[in-house]
Amino acid sequence: MKKEFKVQRSTFNVRSSQLRLKSSKSAAGNFQKGASFYLLFTVYCLLFAALLSCSPKKESIYKKTKVEMDTVVTITVVSDSEEKAAKAIDKAFGEIGRLDLLLNFFSDKSELAMINRSAGAPPVRVSPETLEVIGKALCASEKTGGAFDATIGAESSLWDFFQKKKPDDETIRQRRGLVNYRWITLAKGESAAGLEKKGMLMDLGAIAKGYAADKAVEELKKNGVRAGLVAVAGDIRAFGLKPDGKPWKVGIRNPRQQGKDDEILATIALKDMAISTSGDYERYFLLDGKRYHHILDPKTGYPAEGCRSVTVMAPDAASTDSFSTAAFVLGPQKGIEVLERMGFEGIIVDNSGKVRLTPGLKDRIEFKRND
Ligand code: AMP
Ligand code: MG
Repeated sequence: MKKEFKVQRSTFNVRSSQLRLKSSKSAAGNFQKGASFYLLFTVYCLLFAALLSCSPKKESIYKKTKVEMDTVVTITVVSDSEEKAAKAIDKAFGEIGRLDLLLNFFSDKSELAMINRSAGAPPVRVSPETLEVIGKALCASEKTGGAFDATIGAESSLWDFFQKKKPDDETIRQRRGLVNYRWITLAKGESAAGLEKKGMLMDLGAIAKGYAADKAVEELKKNGVRAGLVAVAGDIRAFGLKPDGKPWKVGIRNPRQQGKDDEILATIALKDMAISTSGDYERYFLLDGKRYHHILDPKTGYPAEGCRSVTVMAPDAASTDSFSTAAFVLGPQKGIEVLERMGFEGIIVDNSGKVRLTPGLKDRIEFKRND
């Protein structure tokens, strides 16, 4: 942009010097001066064209939305060519699709399904990505005292939020004994993973989308994209700056939206950061005046109480995805504490609507006024 501005300014100078040439003409040297003027003019034109061809092409924002991982995925990139942008975006979507084939809890063909079928038997060989995401899940469990637990599958598989089906209390109680991240075996040397007890189920639903957003960003960078944003539902990873030199802006949803004017609670600027939100409004049903949602407390098998939504910011989306779920389970007080300990930022809306922030976020968040 700067270069183009300089070019325009130098053409202006060319014109003023031409004017000066014209005004200094005398009768005797009229023809000669006229010729030198045209020569000079041609040289300036050539110089101008050369400068223009050297200046960078104008960058624009290109965007594509698709359903992947059973959710809406939007990839946005900054590029100077529609063709280059489309190619990079398609590669990134390909990467997300590939990871879904490995990590999908609901498909019989995924590597995750293979691990679940072998529960109680020796670990099975899996790809490096499956191994990596399980390693990250275990790390989140350890840092949150088990509030994040990928073996939640034994309980999460009982809940049906589309059919609004609440499992019976006795089944929930029995399944509790099958939830414990310490019974996940990770044999990195053999590139294998397993579950120690028969009946256990691993569900990576609270980390796989964030991990996929990270991998999609890697793919965009590999394909020459210098700035962009990957949003796998509420798990978002941003990098670089927009063509106007400003950071990407992301809205945080109001967990109790009433009308069309109060959808957004706040906005936040993101540069080379990820952000995820876990909310009790995403997958839920109401029964006898009580809200049952999809974020479960591994200790009880029931939906965690205490929060309406938790938003986390950190350098990578696997962390923001897993820690937003974990902080939700921990509740507002302990949730903020764990985020601070990790060096992450967060916004928690508790079950009375009160908003809590990590101290580092106070100057970076813009609350939307709804008056
Ligand atoms: P998220 O929307 O990222 O908070 O993830 C919620 C999904 O993660 C649920 O639909 C379950 O599949 C799974 N999940 C629920 N509770 C937990 C938990 N405490 N730890 C790990 N995964 C969970
Ligand atoms: Mg999550």
